[in-house]
Parts: sequence; structure tokens; C-alpha cells
Amino acid sequence: MPDIESHQPIDYQLADRGLQEKGFIVTEAAAGDLEVVGTCPACLGTTASPWTYGLAGGKGVFKRQEKAKPRGPRTVYCECGYMHPNRPDTAWDLGCGAYWQVELPS
Ligand SMILES: [Zn+2]
Ligand SMILES: [Zn+2]
Repeated sequence: MPDIESHQPIDYQLADRGLQEKGFIVTEAAAGDLEVVGTCPACLGTTASPWTYGLAGGKGVFKRQEKAKPRGPRTVYCECGYMHPNRPDTAWDLGCGAYWQVELPS
């Protein structure tokens, strides 16, 4: 894990960083829950993006529902958790505005 000192307080900017081939780890936290963890290529903050697929949560009758595991590139937004300068009030993400693609393991 990179230490916190490496984070760069760059200005908030929406920017497509393209496909990141390395440096991202996709883990399956639970059935139907993927988490993409890595270092933002823009601000170097540590970012973790949960992604749920398949089973929808809910009480009641247990229903087994098979859903294919997603594949291919998935767009991930920086969620480093820092307040970047010039971040617009309308921004919903918790990062610097950078986004990129990560290939999911098959
Ligand atoms: Zn950041
Ligand atoms: Zn970032």
C-alpha cells in the first residue's frame, strides 16, 4: 500500500486516464461483490471502488439467482477521500475527478 504522503492535492478535474493495465487489484469481497483497489493515476491517492453484481440484497424468501460475473473493462472513478481544490459542489465522487478503466479478471 502506498503511504499517505504520496497523495497529490491537485486541482479537481474530470479526466479520462484510459485503461490502466497494472496496479489494480480486483477482489471478490463477498458473493456478488467486487472491489477494485489501487492507486489513482492522477492524484496518487488510494482508491477503492465497490461494485455489486448479481444477487440483490433483501429480506424474505431466499432466492437463488445466477448472474454472470462481469467481465471486460470497468470504469472506475477516483475515490481517494480527499477534498481536492476547485471541486464543484455538484461533484458526487470523493476524489480528484479522474476516471479510468480496469480490466476485470475472467
Ligand atoms: Zn485525491
Ligand atoms: Zn485521484
